Amino acid sequence: MRWAFAVVLLLTGCVGFHPLHPEWDKVNQSVAGGPTDDASSYRPTSDNPWQVIGYSHQGRPLRIRRIGNGPRRVIWIGGIHGNEREGSVSTAELPLALSRVAGALGQVTLTILEDVNPDGTALHRRTNANGIDLNRNYPARNFLAGKSFGERPLDQPEAKVLHDLVCAERPHLVIVAHSWRNDHFINFDGPAVKHAELFSERSNYRVKPSDRIAPTPGSLGSWIGRKLGIPILTLEHQRGSDPLKCWLDTRRAILSVILSA
Ligand SMILES: [Zn+2]
Repeated sequence: MRWAFAVVLLLTGCVGFHPLHPEWDKVNQSVAGGPTDDASSYRPTSDNPWQVIGYSHQGRPLRIRRIGNGPRRVIWIGGIHGNEREGSVSTAELPLALSRVAGALGQVTLTILEDVNPDGTALHRRTNANGIDLNRNYPARNFLAGKSFGERPLDQPEAKVLHDLVCAERPHLVIVAHSWRNDHFINFDGPAVKHAELFSERSNYRVKPSDRIAPTPGSLGSWIGRKLGIPILTLEHQRGSDPLKCWLDTRRAILSVILSA
């Protein structure tokens, strides 16, 4: 059985990581990148609920926080393209909003990854500081080596940190915030059509399937949704919208999909 499990991990790209929460120390120790600090030394406290799980190319921290302790595991990713920060207010407001839903904290463990691409955010650009699109750097079947995609899957430190988080969590759902020029919609990969339809019902974001979007080799959706078979929603706000409006427009939909089994 152990060999079978190892083969599954190998095939899915989750090599070397145990899918249980108590193994966090090992995950943290495995994350390369901090210029001087040990990521595992940054633990949440009552004053600061954020935990550093790795570092960007330029040494900025990648941070998570957890809300709830329920059996349903959901990962929220606040941003992956540095020029798409429309989901930032949602990232900040989600903990309080979820905690105000009766019974939610016993149903769900929500892991919020603040920003996969803090260098891109600081530089106001799509890519990381290496010029790589972090949404093209995952071990999906359609990974394509290239100047903007990376030479190999996970050769960017930020992509590796997110990969390790997903492999450790084995989430039931992943939601990632993006933005799109002159449009807003909800896109999905993997077995997430019902989540996308529920999201659409509770917002004015229509469902737009991946086959109506340009190919996205090595994307998070291609890896998590199509290869790992984990539902993933790609939330596309309209580019340049007020992040507070984005939150207010989608708050009910986001909480609904987080809580729906
Ligand atoms: Zn994007």
